[in-house]
Amino acid sequence: MSSENSKQTISNQQSSTEGLSTVADRSFLVMQKKEPIIFSDGFLQEAEEIKEQILLKQISFALETSQIIFYLQPVFNTKKLKFISAEALARWQHPEQGLISPDIFIPPFERHSRIHEIDLYILDAVCSFQHSLLKEGIRPLPISVNLSQLDFYDQALSDKILFIVEKYGVPHFLICFEITESTYMDNQKQLLATLQSLKNLGFSILLDDFGSGYSSLDILSKAPIDILKIDKDFIQMIGCSKKGERALQTIVNLSIDLKIDVIAEGVETKEQSNFLAAIGCTHIQGYFYAKPMPIKAYKEILQASR
Ligand code: C2E
Ligand code: CA
Ligand code: CA
Repeated sequence: MSSENSKQTISNQQSSTEGLSTVADRSFLVMQKKEPIIFSDGFLQEAEEIKEQILLKQISFALETSQIIFYLQPVFNTKKLKFISAEALARWQHPEQGLISPDIFIPPFERHSRIHEIDLYILDAVCSFQHSLLKEGIRPLPISVNLSQLDFYDQALSDKILFIVEKYGVPHFLICFEITESTYMDNQKQLLATLQSLKNLGFSILLDDFGSGYSSLDILSKAPIDILKIDKDFIQMIGCSKKGERALQTIVNLSIDLKIDVIAEGVETKEQSNFLAAIGCTHIQGYFYAKPMPIKAYKEILQASR
């Protein structure tokens, strides 16, 4: 990080601390009067907003100082009995707090329309990793990168992606994109056009969390989707709900009908794995086979499987 940036981070932190002390000062004044403390909605909202601003600055700092990394979770093909690809999952390696889950730092960046910063950063890191494998003579497997639907508001998204992938000279079939449903893009025309342009460039497109969102079927019928990822809530119904099991069978049949691959995500038990294999689902991702792991461990299993 440049000294200019570090100065900026320090001064940013100071200004947010000033905001916090205003809230703290007001609480102190109330306490001095020995009156019951009643926090108005506006007051609590202000405190929440200050907390959010501090978190946003900490995440920006984490990006600048390479504290954001990715873990890889392999996808297993039960027919071929081997790993066939992996998903990159962002982690925040905090110097004091250890590994922080994306559930803490992805939503604030989505709320402030800055999620593209994380997604393109992870893409860059994944391409650099694939490039390093190729240089070492290790044959890589495709890795998928998560893209928020909010990323698609940027008309230059596919150009930016292409620029990053080309920078490392990574063959396009080694990079896939997962479109998540955690946020919804209201400009579906632009979303579909960008997906088509990514597809034309030779990248595979996965529809993540299939069945959980409100537009899954709509996107599936219009976008050039290569792979469906069944939401893990469905997998948890195996052995508990006959209706849930039938819904799973229907999704697998639909993917066979559409001639697209299907991955069941969040598979934790042998029973779930056996059920999925029996209904024709050949691709599985979940703790039962492998948890998300650091790239060093992934490289070892990759070498062992080749
Ligand atoms: P996701 O894309 O649906 O990723 C799958 C999540 O399920 C991961 O959580 C993974 O660790 C977890 N998982 C995998 N197998 C199992 C299992 O067998 N059981 C259970 N209970 N969970 C399993 P993680 O890594 O905490 O990521 C949470 C979410 O954060 C992701 O859900 C994705 O929506 C988001 N995310 C992670 N990295 C990125 C990123 O780089 N960009 C964006 N936009 N979102 C990301
Ligand atoms: Ca995903
Ligand atoms: Ca998912």
